[in-house]
Amino acid sequence: MVAPTVGVLALQGAFAAHAAIFERLGARAVEVRTPGELAAADALVIPGGESTTISMLLERSGLLEPVRDRLRGGLPVLGTCAGMILLASEVLDGRPDQHCFGVVDIGVRRNAYGTQVDSFEASIAVEGLGAPFPAVFIRAPAVEQVGPGVEVLAVADAGPVLCRSGAATAAAFHPELSGDDRLHARFLSEL
Ligand code: GLN
Repeated sequence: MVAPTVGVLALQGAFAAHAAIFERLGARAVEVRTPGELAAADALVIPGGESTTISMLLERSGLLEPVRDRLRGGLPVLGTCAGMILLASEVLDGRPDQHCFGVVDIGVRRNAYGTQVDSFEASIAVEGLGAPFPAVFIRAPAVEQVGPGVEVLAVADAGPVLCRSGAATAAAFHPELSGDDRLHARFLSEL
């Protein structure tokens, strides 16, 4: 079987670590900055970073509509932190002009954990994963609404932190930063 090509949206934020993990797991990882690079991808990662900036760069790069079209067509996608915000259907405390793709029917609040605990690690139980996952949260969004058809795969103190809807998975944390590849491996195994 040919290894799948995972596109990692590389406009801003923590994209390099995702690409390295997928390469290590035997996939081909391509950094996506143009519609042409997106076209080569069998799956997409939208990394953590700053959702307002990524949204603006999606517009400028001409990727906003191509990404929207591919996601509507069922492209498997993993969105982490800012990526979760971009996959959501509603963003609270966002910029009025920031885009979200609405492929996971959740309402998220940006920077919901306040300044004094804007970065922390928590051990979370993830459905189907066995041992707890060490989740790194950095100015994470909170999931405040969950629509029908959304599977909640992990919950922490403040509510859902890992949600799936069809081929789209959204994590409030940074799975690429904890030295635990199980979520990336699971994403690959489902391609
Ligand atoms: N607070 C950021 C945002 O609103 C997300 C932070 C992150 O991705 N680590 O986009």
